[in-house]
Amino acid sequence: MAEWNADAVREEVRAWLEEHWDPELSLIEWRNMLAESGWATPTWPVQWFGRGMPVALADAVTEEFRRIGAVGLPGGVGASLAAATILEHGSDDLKRRHLRPIITGEDTWCQLFSEPGSGSDLAGLTTRADRDGDAWVINGQKVWNTSAHHARWGMLLARTDWDVPKHGGITYFVIDMQQPGVVVRPLRQMNGYASFNEVFLTDARVPADHVIGDVNQGWKVALATLAHERRLARIGGRTPRGAGRALDEYRAELEEVMEPYVWYPQRAGRPDLVVDRALATGRHSDPVVRQEIAKLLALVRASEWTAQRAKAAQKLGRPPGPEGSIAKLCTSHIARASAHVHTLLAGGDAMLTGNDGPEDGLIAEILISVPAQSIAGGTDEIQRNIISERVLGMPRGPAVDVGKPFRDVPKNLAT
Ligand SMILES: Cc1cc2nc3c(=O)[nH]c(=O)nc-3n(C[C@H](O)[C@H](O)[C@H](O)COP(=O)(O)OP(=O)(O)OC[C@H]3O[C@@H](n4cnc5c(N)ncnc54)[C@H](O)[C@@H]3O)c2cc1C
Repeated sequence: MAEWNADAVREEVRAWLEEHWDPELSLIEWRNMLAESGWATPTWPVQWFGRGMPVALADAVTEEFRRIGAVGLPGGVGASLAAATILEHGSDDLKRRHLRPIITGEDTWCQLFSEPGSGSDLAGLTTRADRDGDAWVINGQKVWNTSAHHARWGMLLARTDWDVPKHGGITYFVIDMQQPGVVVRPLRQMNGYASFNEVFLTDARVPADHVIGDVNQGWKVALATLAHERRLARIGGRTPRGAGRALDEYRAELEEVMEPYVWYPQRAGRPDLVVDRALATGRHSDPVVRQEIAKLLALVRASEWTAQRAKAAQKLGRPPGPEGSIAKLCTSHIARASAHVHTLLAGGDAMLTGNDGPEDGLIAEILISVPAQSIAGGTDEIQRNIISERVLGMPRGPAVDVGKPFRDVPKNLAT
């Protein structure tokens, strides 16, 4: 393996972009060139549209794309979750079919994991897949599925063996969302957006070769997807400035693909607004408010340092440590602390939505979006369980289903 050097990588990607980036290309022409070059996904293997680069150098490539204003990968969970999972566990056939349209943005994806009866206890899922010739027939219901309303493909977990303990009978499928057996119904959230859906699966069909990993080994694959999800800092898509066909088409793509994520900055609490809001409202001179702001900013800074420690350990080739486990929990703490400070600054006005409210209703949107931060991608309580059991080595909590065939485990849905 070649020795990698950040300066040399920067120089190489800059030279390539200066020679090839042309905003007058169509978006698909440009993304096809990117796929061939390996620069859209430099950490992927060379034979699969990448350059085999270490993760630590990916930022250098992204910065060069930003510097020149070139379009990169599409946003959404296609590249960040689906492709990452297929690369780790998928067959070469699945890689051939799905990786390129993810890079070009021709295919969008959604994650069909949670069910009405199983969210935190994901391995207790009861959507079933039964073999019928060279296909699987899927029946069940999923819920909270972000972007399912415009996804072409779904990452689906379904039960294929009911006679083994719960983790051992799950299979991971790639399901075509645009078939008659798949019905997607949007759900409206309390902040007014409709990013999630319920997905009803009735005799939907999945070809037998659309399994990621092995049949009944889907739990291991699901853990890989969840690990990528918990590491996600942001889900993509800065709006680029400038003129040109590729940029216009990219802005249109962002508007559609990123629409479910427009409120995500608010769900993180917007601590970035706090100091300016304190000055603008004159509340910065209140000692109690100042103390809460200081606590919040200290938490933000400590969390940034923890992220830097994790990055430094990764650069040294060390396995993921406790920093990674507490990172997600920190984001929830920061979101809540920030919502608290925004409330102190705005007082009763924080309850006003729309143009009547402070910052044109943004503060109210923060307050009603923040609870999602401690639920998405695994709740705070589940993160604490993971930290206590896997990082601190404390005994596991009691469970009624260990070692039992899933068929005999009490559940809240008919099976
Ligand atoms: C913004 C957002 C986006 C999402 N996107 C998707 C998506 O695209 N695809 C998808 O499949 N899902 C998605 N989800 C769903 C998410 O994964 C689940 O909401 C989450 O796993 C929690 O499951 P649940 O809602 O069923 O809550 P439950 O599991 O019913 O939990 C209810 C409460 O009980 C607590 N609890 C449960 N078990 C334990 C335990 N063992 N110990 C202590 N406390 C416990 C929980 O912490 C929580 O407070 C999304 C959720 C959000 C908020």
